[in-house]
Amino acid sequence: MSLLSMLDGDAGARCSAAGCAAPAVHALHWRNPRIHSDDRVKTWAACGAHRDSLAAWLRSRAFPVAVTAFGETVERVA
Ligand SMILES: [Zn+2]
Repeated sequence: MSLLSMLDGDAGARCSAAGCAAPAVHALHWRNPRIHSDDRVKTWAACGAHRDSLAAWLRSRAFPVAVTAFGETVERVA
């Protein structure tokens, strides 16, 4: 599987938060353990203002999350 294929659609340049068009600075890598296998990684883009709130949303659902600089990839999140 190519790393690029893990990015959802146009997660390329803009923050994934609803209604936010700010440039992505961070990447949030996560998965839902109930539906995703261990080697699956979903990636959201986040601007500086939304990194923490997006990560908190994922963590509140007990999803594993790894935060990196935008453009970096991770093999898996645990
Ligand atoms: Zn944002």
